[in-house]
Parts: sequence; structure tokens; C-alpha cells
Amino acid sequence: MTAEDKTRLALLLDTAGAFLRDCHWRERKAPPVFEDDVPAEPGGDSLETIAVEIHECRACGLCGLRILPVPGEGVPQPRVLVIGEAPGSEEDERGKPFVGVAGHLLDRMLASVNLSRTTNCFITNTVKCRPPGNRDPSPEETASCAPFLARQIRVLRPAYILCMGRIAAQTMLRTGEGIGRLRGKFFDYTPEYPPDNNAAIAPVIPLIATYHPSALLRDAELKRPAWEDLKKLLARIQT
Ligand code: SF4
Repeated sequence: MTAEDKTRLALLLDTAGAFLRDCHWRERKAPPVFEDDVPAEPGGDSLETIAVEIHECRACGLCGLRILPVPGEGVPQPRVLVIGEAPGSEEDERGKPFVGVAGHLLDRMLASVNLSRTTNCFITNTVKCRPPGNRDPSPEETASCAPFLARQIRVLRPAYILCMGRIAAQTMLRTGEGIGRLRGKFFDYTPEYPPDNNAAIAPVIPLIATYHPSALLRDAELKRPAWEDLKKLLARIQT
């Protein structure tokens, strides 16, 4: 087989793989349905509309690698919007955010401060499709996906934002600072809605960052500072 044949074969296999993955999610799962999903204004945007568009999105190269995109899950108008980095392999398989070992730890962390994805939180990621090999999303991928997160924030109108880990904190705060310097303090986050999404109201949302649960699984010494961060969030919510 010549080098040219090999290139053609690789291209063919790539295309076939993307097609099969696409069929896979269509057969397995429709975009999630959000209960009590009320548009911000009559006829306006909704979580379900955004989820459908995410399932159809091909705006960056991650679309060809995903099994399922992961729009997010939780309650509308949550007390806390929890933002992670990107789906991992189990999330990619199931189309849900934070469902692996790190996800279970996140649920326990949230429960320790009376938060839960079933009662008062919504959980999503900065990008909705899994980067291969769990690498960081590239700036281009994050920029392509940013309008979805902006629209979700507009529809959800969360009282607080909790960023899990470096990537989420850096993306939301538009900074290159490390998580060690960003965590544990409140920032004023001003939502940036997409230009076609008439943004009459853009309230400032208090935002706090802490370590990603995966980091806590790698380094148990980070558990105490993460717990301190969550207690700060709880104290702010209670006041
Ligand atoms: S990561 Fe975001 S922008 Fe890229 S394909 Fe998925 S939904 Fe679209």
C-alpha cells in the first residue's frame, strides 16, 4: 500500500468513525429534557433549545470526536451554577456532567454545603464535548463553545457561580492566573451574552473558584482548602 493509499484510508476511517458516532447518539439519546424549563421571556431562549443546538453543533473539531455532547443538568434558576472544564470519558458516554469518580466526589462536596444538582444547582462545563485524551480545551474550542455557556447563564440566572478547577476559573475570569491564586475569593462576574441574544439585564453574579474534584483525588492535601472555599460559599449564601 502506498503512502497516498494509507492517507486515503485514514481519511475514510475518520469519516466513517464520525458518522457512526453521530448515529450512536441519535439512536441512544435525544437531547435532555429540562423540567420547569421556562424561557427568560415569552418565546425566548430555553435550556432545551440550547441543549438541542449543542447536540447539533459542529462549530469546533471536538464534534467529530464525541460520543455524546454534555449540555449540563440541574434545576432552572439554581442557587449555584457549577462550571467544570470539559466532559471526561464517562460523561462523553452518558451525556451527563460529572458522573465518574470525580463526579461522585463533586456531589459529596456539594452535599456538604447543602447543594445538589437535583434541588438547587445546575452543573455544566466550559466546553460541551470531550477533548481527546482529557487534554485541556484549546482557546479556539473554548471560544467556539462560549456562546452556549453565556446563553445558559442568561436563561438560568444563577445566584452564584462556582468554578471547579483552573480551566473553568481562568475561562470565566479571563485570566491566566493559577487556581492557587484564584480560589477561595469572590469575584464579580458580569455575564457576556452573545450579540444576537438581546441582553437587557446583565446582573453581576458573585463567582468563587475552588479545586477540581479530580485534583482532590490526585492530591488529598487539597481537600482542606477546597472545603474552606465551599464554606465561604455557604456563608455567603446564608447571608
Ligand atoms: S465543544 Fe462546543 S463548540 Fe465544539 S462542537 Fe461541541 S458544542 Fe460545538
